[in-house]
Amino acid sequence: TSGDIDWRHLDASHHLHPFTDNKALRLTGVRVIEKAEGVYLWDGDGNRYLDGFAGLWCVNVGYGRKELIEAAAAQMQQLPYYNLFFKTTTMPAIELAQAICELTPPGLNQVFFTGSGSEANDTVFRMVRRYWDLRGQKKKKVFIARKNAYHGSTVAGASLGGMRYMHEQGDLPIPGIEHIEQPYAFELAGDLSSEAFGRLAAGWLEQKILELGPEHVAAFIGEPIQGAGGVIIPPLNYWSEVEKICRKYDVLICADEVICGFGRLGHWFGCQHFGFTPDFMSIAKGLSSGYLPIGGVVVRDEVAELLVEQGGEFNHGFTYSGHPVCAAVALANLRILREERIVETVRKQSGPYLSRKLAELVDHPLVGEVRNIGLIGAIELVADKHTRKRCGKLGDTGSLCRDMALREGLILRATGDTMLLSPPLIISGAEIDELVAKTRLALDATAAQLGL
Ligand code: PLP
Repeated sequence: TSGDIDWRHLDASHHLHPFTDNKALRLTGVRVIEKAEGVYLWDGDGNRYLDGFAGLWCVNVGYGRKELIEAAAAQMQQLPYYNLFFKTTTMPAIELAQAICELTPPGLNQVFFTGSGSEANDTVFRMVRRYWDLRGQKKKKVFIARKNAYHGSTVAGASLGGMRYMHEQGDLPIPGIEHIEQPYAFELAGDLSSEAFGRLAAGWLEQKILELGPEHVAAFIGEPIQGAGGVIIPPLNYWSEVEKICRKYDVLICADEVICGFGRLGHWFGCQHFGFTPDFMSIAKGLSSGYLPIGGVVVRDEVAELLVEQGGEFNHGFTYSGHPVCAAVALANLRILREERIVETVRKQSGPYLSRKLAELVDHPLVGEVRNIGLIGAIELVADKHTRKRCGKLGDTGSLCRDMALREGLILRATGDTMLLSPPLIISGAEIDELVAKTRLALDATAAQLGL
């Protein structure tokens, strides 16, 4: 309660939250986040939290950056809205498209703007099908995606995604989408070397292409590192093997860079860490550090050339595609990432430092594995380190640990019994120390509750 108003009650009366059991929320009440600075958040009760999750994997430059606030205010004054339809554009959209293409791998030089990551993946879905239509291969329609992938909440996004609990609601996926197993080494590699598991997991894609017939397979879509699915870090050779397979069977490669893009892995894009070149990249989140909603699709030159030269009008777009205020904020955000050399710092300093600190948690009785690339990481919780058996019902321990972390003033996320980490990219060494120390306290409290 703040003043005379019970905000929690008001929220429960009128607001249906995304990805929330709204009935349970009525009982527990909601946490009202009131302000933020750097890597910290404060709730309405005055509690401070280290945000180990950067909002939703997105606040890359941290909270409270004046440059972004000023960029938004200035653009609001100059031109608060105009669209990019029907042969018009705005200066921020022009400048942002150029700024993005200066960062993308060679050969990707065209951007289509959207308002979100889900819209980006829907756009990829339609562009890919349009591409094969224009190539005269109308039968090439099927997308291959992966189990537990998250590609958004729109109908195509949720269908491309491999979350069973999403498919169950709304009779998804829509036709023409197939899911293969994810490259989840912790559960699936057994005694295989990383390289052998990388080849095996890429081979699942080849098997599926052959089963469907290459003449039916339009594209493969995947997150370079699967985020919401549990920070599934594939072996280093996985993506180059996938690339070879896709090129062999003339299957387009769509990298969903919504989380990995803009520095999370210590490179501008996840595909640069793994050394492959996609035909499409979906971007959002870190593009504006989440300060305003904006996303996009970056298209490889050969594909873009065909769509432009032979495609005529592409009947697709959003009122807020490349919104000028969002684009101005994204530009200011990219400037900060560049000028403060944040991506390089993640690669050379904070990422390796997080690896060293996480390794200190491996001695904890609940910890089966820690892993990270740059500033995205995971901790596997198990009852038995050797057999990797989980404790009780999958997900209960993860949720408990997340709640214990919250009590320690740390925001983590759990997927099943896997704890996920993705702090703002500007996190300092001392703040990483705090993050890991609080994680250990949360692990201790979890183990105590479980009687371990
Ligand atoms: N793709 C990935 C990999 C994501 O993690 C997300 C969101 O978490 C999306 C797409 C969807 O983005 P949005 O929530 O902006 O629609």
